[in-house]
Amino acid sequence: MTPPAGADGRDRPGEFEIIGEIFAPLAADAPGAWGLKDDAALFHPSAGFETVLTVDAMVAGVHFLPDDPPESIAKKLLRVNLSDLAAKGAVPRGYLLVTAFPPDIDIGWIRRFAEGLAADQARYGVSLWGGDTVKTPGPLTLSLTAIGEVPQGRIVRRGGAEAGDDLYVTGTLGDAALGLAVLKGELPGLADEHAAFLVSRYREPEPRTALGPALPGLAHAALDVSDGLMADLGHLCSASGVGARVEFHRLPLSPAAETALRLKPELRGLPAGGGDDYEILFAAAPGDAARVAAAAAQAGVEAVRIGTLLPAGKGVAAVDEAGREIPLKQLGYRHF
Ligand SMILES: [Mg+2]
Repeated sequence: MTPPAGADGRDRPGEFEIIGEIFAPLAADAPGAWGLKDDAALFHPSAGFETVLTVDAMVAGVHFLPDDPPESIAKKLLRVNLSDLAAKGAVPRGYLLVTAFPPDIDIGWIRRFAEGLAADQARYGVSLWGGDTVKTPGPLTLSLTAIGEVPQGRIVRRGGAEAGDDLYVTGTLGDAALGLAVLKGELPGLADEHAAFLVSRYREPEPRTALGPALPGLAHAALDVSDGLMADLGHLCSASGVGARVEFHRLPLSPAAETALRLKPELRGLPAGGGDDYEILFAAAPGDAARVAAAAAQAGVEAVRIGTLLPAGKGVAAVDEAGREIPLKQLGYRHF
């Protein structure tokens, strides 16, 4: 049913229409969500598993660009949460969604946002279990809580890494930050195909959900790279009470990122300092290198060794091929 247009002729939706017509179909596969018609949802983890919860919020102009496509904003909102579940070794099952829409939101925008969620629900095997829709006088604000399950007692924490462990990262680094640079017009002259790849990595990161369930019993510690490699490595090291040495030349780069950095060498710190990659950074025993390679191959993702964990007190350092330390300020963290 189409709501009456407002005085200015805009097609402005009401809360019940948004929930009943646009969001309720996203809950159709979840028996415990009762079509979003009750006050809460029920979830039973599989036998021998326990529940893992994570939440992220995104604000227009801070975590995404206001003119990013609504489908992409929806996918990023879901995927950054699935990335956290994967890094903990969990399998995603469902999610709760809070949307705070500014008064001038168009119902077509909300429909496209829900289409993005529907596509990713099919891709990652999750469904909507509940949430809330409110109005805000501020910028568009979104929050999503993802729910997953992990074998009992096997969640992979940030702490637990040991000095001597190898340090691995999945996929490639720096693409998202370079994609943001493309969107801000900082990489003119980059071939269209490379620019499009980097922008897609910024807008629609690839959570490593296939690798996640292989991490319990293999990774001593893990987290996803959201703030930037060196910043997130710092989190892992402080939680584990270790130091780290990252071999800068080993950081995995996509062909598009290599081309972009050749074009603009002053951005070379982004693979280590840029955010939004949503790759998994993890530590594993050196004797488990073959198991890591096998798990990555099984998951269809690259996992490369980028460094070594050191005893506490050694700090977190990046070194070049000759083993010389690279000043961290050259690997600066950028945010907008
Ligand atoms: Mg995280």
